[in-house]
Amino acid sequence: MKSDIRVCGVWRDRHERPVYTLSSSCPECGAPTENSAPAPFNPEDPYGEYRRARKRRVADE
Ligand SMILES: [Zn+2]
Repeated sequence: MKSDIRVCGVWRDRHERPVYTLSSSCPECGAPTENSAPAPFNPEDPYGEYRRARKRRVADE
């Protein structure tokens, strides 16, 4: 089952903990949210490195 729950894309910078919402923008800081479904929340954010690597790869193309 797919979840529509989203999480503030910059919560690590702006909030003490993840800010979940169903909106496309964070209700607390207004930053764009990202879908939290692909990776269940993990305090250590193991996908952070993957996201950075993907962004770097895209930049190289
Ligand atoms: Zn936020």
